[in-house]
Amino acid sequence: MAFESLSDKLQNVFKNLRGKGRLSEADVKTALKEVKMALLEADVNFKVVKQFINAVQERAIGQDVQNSLTPGQMVIKIVNEELVKLMGSETTEIELKPASEITVILMAGLQGAGKTTTTAKIAGKLKAKGRNPLLVACDIYRPAAIKQLQINGEKQGVPVFSMGENQKPADIARAAMAYAAKNGQNVVILDTAGRLHIDEDMMNELIEIKESVEVHQTILVVDAMTGQDAVNVASMFHDKIGIDGVIITKLDGDTRGGSALSIRAVTGKPVLYVGMGEKLSDLEQFYPDRMASRILG
Ligand code: GDP
Repeated sequence: MAFESLSDKLQNVFKNLRGKGRLSEADVKTALKEVKMALLEADVNFKVVKQFINAVQERAIGQDVQNSLTPGQMVIKIVNEELVKLMGSETTEIELKPASEITVILMAGLQGAGKTTTTAKIAGKLKAKGRNPLLVACDIYRPAAIKQLQINGEKQGVPVFSMGENQKPADIARAAMAYAAKNGQNVVILDTAGRLHIDEDMMNELIEIKESVEVHQTILVVDAMTGQDAVNVASMFHDKIGIDGVIITKLDGDTRGGSALSIRAVTGKPVLYVGMGEKLSDLEQFYPDRMASRILG
């Protein structure tokens, strides 16, 4: 489970703080040094850690804490508030056009990140909201990916549009729009091809799709288990194609949780959902305050 070890370490730091009637500047600094180590060990981006510690320190050395009857609690409260801020404060939804129009969502990500699975998970969420989604197989390089989307679409009771492997993804996307318009689908979700690493061809293909149809939301899927690589991938995708939000998968298997804590601060883009398992129902909305509570125990 994510944050397990971070949570243990922070609770140890806080146990020491709680017991103290007064807190000197040195006490606060020592505690924050330990918080810093814990965050770095959880694989949080080092720049993010630095900014975070500075922000907490600035507030924790102030008068409010010194004069408080329970200074330890005050410091913990500040850490909590700054963690929530780090993760974006608010829960962000996928932005949809009014139901009378077609919203196009482009799903991007590296191969194996969980994009195809997450695409089907999202379709299920949108269906539950009363939308009528269409899944579109734009990954023309792996026949298995098309098949997987079809199987998952069937499980979700959502139609899948495919033109096989011999058309260009941008053309498939355009044809899918016509199909959706004819069949009353009001959300078109494009499952695009990933690669093992970021490369020019993949980015160009995504750009071509974005030039071919009016994409309303570009959502990047990253794998939590890859830690800071996930954060770097998010930065690079954002630089190249512009993303609106991120979904972090496999948080159920990631004991550290560094990507969930860093992505918002590094890219400026919100985490929308987190994947918590392989089942199509294992997708949770991202609540920064609940995440912080989970971390602080
Ligand atoms: P794609 O190559 O990005 O389309 O990745 P897939 O959707 O094929 O997923 C790759 C693997 O990750 C599959 O075995 C999925 O079942 C698994 N997976 C996807 N999301 C999650 C998740 O949130 N948790 C866990 N444990 N596994 C996941």
